[in-house]
Amino acid sequence: MLKVGITGGIGSGKTTVARIFQLLGIPVYFADQAARSIMQTDPEVISQVKTLLGDEAYLPDGTLNRVYVAKRVFQDQWLLEQLNAITHPATIRDAENWMKQQHTPYAIKEAALLFETSAFHYLDRIIVVYAPRALRIQRVMQRDHVSAEEVKRRMLQQIAPEIAIRLADDVIYNDEQRAVIPQVLHLHQQFLAMANLRPS
Ligand code: ATP
Repeated sequence: MLKVGITGGIGSGKTTVARIFQLLGIPVYFADQAARSIMQTDPEVISQVKTLLGDEAYLPDGTLNRVYVAKRVFQDQWLLEQLNAITHPATIRDAENWMKQQHTPYAIKEAALLFETSAFHYLDRIIVVYAPRALRIQRVMQRDHVSAEEVKRRMLQQIAPEIAIRLADDVIYNDEQRAVIPQVLHLHQQFLAMANLRPS
């Protein structure tokens, strides 16, 4: 089975694009959502997070204390990197297991960070969703009710879109100039053909 990654800058429309593939019957692993769940269910991850950030990282009912964790890691780049070093490998393992359980010609992993971690090594094709910076800022401000400064701060965690495009196999332009669905349909046909050519 072909393993396809979808990535792109914050607010580029990765999730929106991944949902169109889902409508075509292609299973999608949403890595950011999965990582949040892993942080609350994987005993080894929980223990490492507690060692790094203290027992306060979890509430008495076992759920992640998001406010506390966000406050700690966003003030301290080193802590954020340490936390990522715990959660990223665990999410990569989980995604790999999930991929093994899929029975379609191809399956997708959607993640904000693919090139920034070693995640892209495990994928056969990578799609970058592109939208201009100003549009992305406007979308995220509207979606999350946050300031432009907050969106720009989150953008700093990701590589520049120009670099992502150069590293990608395919690009989907979600710039409100070009229609997105025909681009998805084109890639869908391409991936089905590629999957057909691969030894099973
Ligand atoms: P993040 O990295 O923050 O999770 P993302 O890349 O997954 O962002 P989406 O959540 O898919 O981006 O899109 C960001 C916002 O922009 C959403 O509210 C979505 O509905 C909206 N959006 C995305 N694409 C379009 C489009 N072509 N037209 C109008 N709105 C769009």
